[in-house]
Amino acid sequence: MIHRPRITIAALILGGYGLIFFALHGLGWYATRNMEQLRTVTQDLYAHPFAVSNAAIDMKSNLFQLRHHMLQVVLLQKNNDNLRQMYGEADGFSETIRTDLAVIKANFLGDMNRVRELEIKLDQWDAIRAEILAAVEKKDMETAHRLVRTVGTPKFTEIVPLVDYVQTFAKDRAKLFVDEAERHAQQMHSRMLGLIAVLSVFLIATGFAVLRGVRNLQDELRRQATTDFLTEIPNRRHFIELLDRELARSLRYDDPFALAVADLDLFKTINDTHGHHVGDRVLKKFCEVCSRSLRASDIIGRIGGEEFAVLFPKTGLSEALDVLERLRSAIEETVVMTEQGLPLRFTASFGLAAYASGEKNTMGLFKRADDALYEAKRGGRNKVCVINN
Ligand code: GH3
Ligand code: MG
Ligand code: MG
Repeated sequence: MIHRPRITIAALILGGYGLIFFALHGLGWYATRNMEQLRTVTQDLYAHPFAVSNAAIDMKSNLFQLRHHMLQVVLLQKNNDNLRQMYGEADGFSETIRTDLAVIKANFLGDMNRVRELEIKLDQWDAIRAEILAAVEKKDMETAHRLVRTVGTPKFTEIVPLVDYVQTFAKDRAKLFVDEAERHAQQMHSRMLGLIAVLSVFLIATGFAVLRGVRNLQDELRRQATTDFLTEIPNRRHFIELLDRELARSLRYDDPFALAVADLDLFKTINDTHGHHVGDRVLKKFCEVCSRSLRASDIIGRIGGEEFAVLFPKTGLSEALDVLERLRSAIEETVVMTEQGLPLRFTASFGLAAYASGEKNTMGLFKRADDALYEAKRGGRNKVCVINN
């Protein structure tokens, strides 16, 4: 039995919202953590392989530019001003190549021996370049030509494959990272979808649980409002509702129906002799016997302390009288145990009346049934009396 429906409803709603709150927070936390992981993967991607790959590409282009300048210097034999400008440009390329080399050394994840080999060869090429330029400056073009042919060009062709190796390795590495980042993003996407699906199911289930809880409470409240607490049969108000409904139906279809009122005999004495709780037990027993002896369509209600009423829908007076007589006799046979374990018998008196066709309310009907009950009491109790219309 629920005694505090408001608190229960509030607890259900608060509990439901609490669950939703925590579930959303959990989802948020999970999403943030995944984004963080993805960021780390992407950062690694930029920090190492991309840096190396870019440096290698840059180095290669500078190497070619540098070589192009060398050949121009040697082949064109420009005037001194031109030469100086070209030396300056060559130094710029050379410097950039050194910077690229530093980036590669710091970030390369492949075979470092090849990088060291590259560095040595670059040093050697620098030295040869210096020799060639010195020869050009001395106008010793023969030596310059010879050095370019025999040492400069072969050295250059040794350097390029090393740079290519570094660049290819870094490119493959970068691709690996890109694939990894993509795989990670996809994994995160499907995990989030799964999580959202679980969360949705969870939220829907919570919603249904709350709704069902509220509906159960409503049912319980309705039951409490219409049922007598002690005997669990319709209370006075509900019984009157059912009676009015029957009256409306009879008015419409001109069906007969009968009403009986019942009152336990000398009930005060039972209470006084055996105590209130034994009296309560008798009341419950009375209802049990009624539900056993009455027909399924008959309706009983508790209309007062030890007063009850029975509605016999679509039933004439004589038929109802038979049922009531059977009930009266069943009650007479019934035994309730007292606290001392002694059998206690009790009886009830009944007053019966029939609905008179065309009656617009149940006041007259109740009055006739009450009069009949009074008759039964006056006639010695444990009786069924009838008032004919
Ligand atoms: P009568 O045969 O003339 O009806 O006599 P009675 O003693 O039954 O009549 P009366 O109306 O004087 O007594 C009814 C008693 O029913 C009085 C009241 O204390 C008792 N009663 C009413 N409701 C309850 C209840 O819920 N439980 C118990 N144990 N007693 C109740
Ligand atoms: Mg009474
Ligand atoms: Mg009584």
